[in-house]
Amino acid sequence: MVMRSAELETRREKAKQIAAGLKKRNIEGFYCQNKEEALKLVLDMVPDGASAGWGGSVTLKQIGLFDGLREKGCVLHDMDEAGGDPEKAREIYLQSVGDDYFFMSTNGITEDGELVNIDGQGSRLSRMIFGPRNVVIIAGINKISPDVQSAVKRIRNEVCPVLAVAGGRNTACSNLGRCGNCFTPDSMCCEFVITRKSRQNGRMKVILVGEELGY
Ligand code: SF4
Repeated sequence: MVMRSAELETRREKAKQIAAGLKKRNIEGFYCQNKEEALKLVLDMVPDGASAGWGGSVTLKQIGLFDGLREKGCVLHDMDEAGGDPEKAREIYLQSVGDDYFFMSTNGITEDGELVNIDGQGSRLSRMIFGPRNVVIIAGINKISPDVQSAVKRIRNEVCPVLAVAGGRNTACSNLGRCGNCFTPDSMCCEFVITRKSRQNGRMKVILVGEELGY
């Protein structure tokens, strides 16, 4: 989706309000104008040599997070390095659960600040919920939806079809271009997680970026 400038401005204002409102959810909210500002904010937060993992995310690649972390000498736990070996992936996952930082985007965020996510195997969302000491979530303004219901609808009908085609997955949405409520082995819609608040003080941070990032 490419937004018109009026829509971009409206969403940027909403993103600022959402970031400010996250305090009631015990989540630290930040607003950055662009991905360069977001990258600087993140790299200033993370101490040199910290351990870090992440959940698969186009957004994180777009902001250049991984090169930045490497330059800081961080110890990285990247499940993609398992190369499809489930035992190796499990080993990296278990290391990552104990990391100082976990990075991800969110599939959606509501105007009231709820985080809306859908996972296939759940390795991303399990680490978001518990384990790593800090969770940093970075999302573009295209991820904003009015409420949970419309966020889920957007994810299943607009995001999943793109991800299914890109990942070569055999799902109904890869053929239909919208959700067909499939139960195929490749279905990405196994775990639905709505984050209402964080119980652990200072653990969760959300950085909203005034650009379109990811899907
Ligand atoms: S349920 Fe199946 S068809 Fe619907 S979005 Fe999820 S993976 Fe795609």
